[in-house]
Amino acid sequence: MSSRVLFATVYKNRDTPYDYIGANSRSRWFRFYWPRIQSFGLRFLKQNIPELEILEFPTWEEYLRKLEEGWDVLGLSFYLSETHEALEMVEAARARGIPEIWAGNYGALTPEIQGRFDRVFVGYSEQQLAPYFGRQVEKIVHPPLIEYLNTPFGIKLNIYGILFTTRGCGVGCKFCQTPCFAPRPSTLPLESIERVVAYYKKNDINVVLIEDENFGANRRQAERVVEILDDYDMVWGCMARADFLRDKIDEWAQMRRRVSRRDGSARRMVSGFAGAAIGIETLHQQTLDSIKKKEGAEEIVDTVKLLQRNGMGIVGYYMIGFEEDTVSSVKEDIKRLADLKLDITQICVLTPLPQTPIWTEIKDRYGIFDHDYHHYDGKHLVWNHPHIQPQEMDDLLDWSLKTVYPWSAPLRTSYRVWHNAYRYAGMAGLREVASYIRRANRFDFYPKEPRLLV
Ligand code: SF4
Repeated sequence: MSSRVLFATVYKNRDTPYDYIGANSRSRWFRFYWPRIQSFGLRFLKQNIPELEILEFPTWEEYLRKLEEGWDVLGLSFYLSETHEALEMVEAARARGIPEIWAGNYGALTPEIQGRFDRVFVGYSEQQLAPYFGRQVEKIVHPPLIEYLNTPFGIKLNIYGILFTTRGCGVGCKFCQTPCFAPRPSTLPLESIERVVAYYKKNDINVVLIEDENFGANRRQAERVVEILDDYDMVWGCMARADFLRDKIDEWAQMRRRVSRRDGSARRMVSGFAGAAIGIETLHQQTLDSIKKKEGAEEIVDTVKLLQRNGMGIVGYYMIGFEEDTVSSVKEDIKRLADLKLDITQICVLTPLPQTPIWTEIKDRYGIFDHDYHHYDGKHLVWNHPHIQPQEMDDLLDWSLKTVYPWSAPLRTSYRVWHNAYRYAGMAGLREVASYIRRANRFDFYPKEPRLLV
């Protein structure tokens, strides 16, 4: 008889699901919600190794009930800030006699906890795991990954298909765990990418978010992916470095203009590249150099402005609490950041993540005082900063988020989206964008079984 294997995320309290925009705006005013409703990693595993079972964000009681079904192996997929919950789940599983417990995802990179597991998987693990099930995964199949943007009133605004085209990054920024997790970017097969894009299209999903750590790490692959998205008339955005984007924005904007002239359908006219998520990190060149970002601060800002000139949306990732930062220097920088008027600004407190070069440097030079992993979520100061105290950092983060994210920010973004639709396709464009709301509210985001390609 073959082994029974369960892969689970950490348990969650249903009343407070993780909401990306909420965590990054801290605003009580009208704002959008972007809840985390599925585990991308577990969906990839299930799609490629159907014998295993997955359990996503169960409540504690649901988890315990699931354990009672009896398993040969439990695999836990978790992030660093979820470590304590993962360890509680390990205890419960051991108490119920589950013989083997495995760890995966970024949380498994922490050396101190690796001994609590029987096996630790580093990186994207479909191929490492497959032999356990007597399989080989030669070509990864991309599962459907579907999310939505919500409002405080429960009316969903949009529906997205998530796409990964390469996984991993070897650039080596000193603060980033990706080069420890998956140092060599690997491409996902183009035929699989096309299949999942076709699936989205068939399900009336027109917006695709490319969530590669670094879209464009493989330029040939990125170009082919853009052609696929264009063939399917998708509206799309990506997470990419500014240096790659800067060379591409004009070309992608022109593709959009060409479409406008060539074809009269509103759906075709509002399709194309719509925005990007960029790591800004800091506005100081010296700091960028010291963290080995290998980019110019001015070029990053120029890329942001170029995107804005073309009416595109921007998510910017930014960090405070570098070694040389003081309360007043951060306040000055945040005012400049707010002037960029990004759609979403993610501000994180510099956090030493296990196995990164900055983790070793901070440990040796200043010391880490906080070992509660809940605080390793980018919103807390966990090390002895030379100029800023933990309470000051808390206040500073709060002030920073309020400064970059005024109550008018969601209105500004909404205006940009509607204005662009009108600019490219007139009233038909407005109707097309309005149809996103209808589609998002009709879609079943919580089917009993995860959606897979068959
Ligand atoms: S921050 Fe981005 S570019 Fe730098 S190593 Fe991480 S994924 Fe790569």
